[in-house]
Amino acid sequence: MIEIGSAVDRVKVGDWVCLPFNIGCGFCENCERGLTGFCLTCNPGTAGAAYGFAGMGPYSGGQAELLRVPYGDFNCLVLPKDTEEKQLDYVMLSDIWPTGWHATELSGLKPGESIVIYGAGPVGLIAAYSAMVKGASQVMVVDRHPDRLKLVEQIGAIPIDDSDEQAVEKVLQQTNGAGADRGCECVGYQCHDHHGRECNHLTMNALVESVRASGGIGVVGVFVPSDPKAPTKLEQSGKMAFDFGKFWFKGQKLGTGQANVKAYNRYLARSIERNRAKPSFLISHELPLSEAPTAYKHFDNRDDGWTKVVLRAA
Ligand SMILES: [Zn+2]
Repeated sequence: MIEIGSAVDRVKVGDWVCLPFNIGCGFCENCERGLTGFCLTCNPGTAGAAYGFAGMGPYSGGQAELLRVPYGDFNCLVLPKDTEEKQLDYVMLSDIWPTGWHATELSGLKPGESIVIYGAGPVGLIAAYSAMVKGASQVMVVDRHPDRLKLVEQIGAIPIDDSDEQAVEKVLQQTNGAGADRGCECVGYQCHDHHGRECNHLTMNALVESVRASGGIGVVGVFVPSDPKAPTKLEQSGKMAFDFGKFWFKGQKLGTGQANVKAYNRYLARSIERNRAKPSFLISHELPLSEAPTAYKHFDNRDDGWTKVVLRAA
């Protein structure tokens, strides 16, 4: 923290802080209930505000030398004394870890249950890690990229290779034909088949098949109300051919939306402070901010080994 405004009481210059990617006011009806991803104050007319996110208010992005923080006392998570030495762990609290954690919360995961996670990008990997921290008995992660599947194995989860599009069958085999207790969508609307054709319902319908009857599904992969470049009219209008009949017959539950970061980040920070968790395992690269465009290109291309990049402002 290098400067504070006159209305800030709690946070002090010199504090190490971590900021959620979404912005809350702390006093609206949703913030009061811990739903800070859906603040009613910070982006009037909409529920939810965030730094540098289309439709989420007039706030510049957080990947910058400096960040101006509204409602600083509420939004800043003041970090403990060991922050400088563990900063690569704590920086994972701004978005990625709470988002992965949220996916498992939305799914309703309880200790001892099994879970299948679609997508072994950074969110899927840390959702798998979260499930293990929570005591899941079986954690499966579906992807097609060999480097990502290797990471799944490294963190102690079961990699499910979907390059032959047989993921559902493999999950059913792993769960005696019943399906996993819980499932997480960590891919989003740009999911595609093995020919690279985009089709927004693929992972959602695979989850309905892969999760047991009366199980729960958490969706943190991004879906959008309109997608002008999508291949079909239906998808362009933000809709999908969701297998609602099977979903209903199986009596499954579904939770969606961005993570309420503040609902989790303080407690996740403590598990870092007390050496119970080390989310920095995700980080593949540390680069200066000036190399951000190159890093994004590598990440977008799914280039081998580009899992998670930390950008240093100075
Ligand atoms: Zn609010």
